[in-house]
Amino acid sequence: MPASPLWRPFTQHAVEPQPPKIVRAEGAWLETDDGRRILDAISSWWVTTHGHRHPAIMTAIRETTESLDQIIFAGLTHEPAEALARALVELTPPGLEHVFFSDSGSTSVEVALKMALGFFRNRGEPRAKIAVMEGAYHGDTIGAMSVGARGVFNAAYEPLLFEVERIPFPAPGREQAAIDAVEAAGRNGELAALLVEPLVLGAGGMLTYPPAVLGELARAARAAGALFIADEVMTGWGRTGTLFACEQARLSPDILCTSKGLTGGAIPLAATLATAEIFEAHWSEDRSKTFFHSSSFTANPIACAAALANVGVWRDEPVRARVAALAAAQACRLARFEADARFANVRSCGTIAALDLRVPDAGYLAEIGPKLRAFFLARGLLVRPLGEIIYLMPPYCVTEAELDSLYDAIAEAPDALGLVR
Ligand code: PLP
Repeated sequence: MPASPLWRPFTQHAVEPQPPKIVRAEGAWLETDDGRRILDAISSWWVTTHGHRHPAIMTAIRETTESLDQIIFAGLTHEPAEALARALVELTPPGLEHVFFSDSGSTSVEVALKMALGFFRNRGEPRAKIAVMEGAYHGDTIGAMSVGARGVFNAAYEPLLFEVERIPFPAPGREQAAIDAVEAAGRNGELAALLVEPLVLGAGGMLTYPPAVLGELARAARAAGALFIADEVMTGWGRTGTLFACEQARLSPDILCTSKGLTGGAIPLAATLATAEIFEAHWSEDRSKTFFHSSSFTANPIACAAALANVGVWRDEPVRARVAALAAAQACRLARFEADARFANVRSCGTIAALDLRVPDAGYLAEIGPKLRAFFLARGLLVRPLGEIIYLMPPYCVTEAELDSLYDAIAEAPDALGLVR
């Protein structure tokens, strides 16, 4: 029987060991109750951007608790949300003028889908189909699962999921097929939106595609009269090399979802930004055209203050230079694996690096996944491969020496785990 009443996320309790207990976090490091140090090479599920417990963000949280806690956000307002909304409009691609706060990446996607459908309904246009990319991941709530890839993760919940149009992932050689599929999906006039993870498919395998293709996909969706939604929950806040991935395609989406690095990863918060046109479609004397969404903790003042402090860190510290240096450092260390027959598909996008271990049994449930995780953890490294796909997404404060320890461990892993050459 389990030693703890906790039911953990994405954890098969019957086979997984009791996890280390973390008592302290600082920069790129976590410290356990028995004094071990663990290098957080996945930014605690991709949230921690500058490093754990950035002083400016911690101070903002502490100071805000002196005067505010949760305040209902329908009918009342507060300065942390007002100031953050203004900052987000300033920082995100042009044209995104309205900000709706929620509390996780999944809910930011749910909000985006509801905004898109509300937009067309309020305009009296019968569009309600959503197109998504094969292999996508947008979260684990019912709507977010519906627009994500189907598989072992959601097989049990399939009866609750709605149908969407799926376009191929634009892998090399399939770019035009993906663009054609958007055009085909839009032909009957029912397509409300194309929703994509820009430049990198995250949980779907850290698969990358070029900015030009992203731009073409958006163009095809708009040519069909549909909205273009960018799920920047993972890619936002510098991960792909720019503040938001869409910038690399000089693209302003109609709706943009952000979470994870929004507060520097310190505390939950999400935002869905939309154009004036989408907001105005909900602006009416007719109350039935209201955007009917809320959650109890919408625009939590402490989380908004943390996000404002994060914006301040981007403004006051050389974060862009750190991101560029980390991207270069990862690319240079990945190069040694290009000609290593034990690995395949060596790739990177900004600060995200990934490569596949050649194994006979590939796939998310492949035994190699937990073995790799245990191998890295025994070396004091927090790495959570997606099956045989090893990826690194460290916070931007990681040092060259720390990266060396990660890449040396990756090089040792196949032999240490007895994978025959
Ligand atoms: N969208 C993308 C692209 C993500 O990578 C994730 C989480 O990894 C989500 C949405 C869901 O975010 P959350 O886990 O905060 O609900």
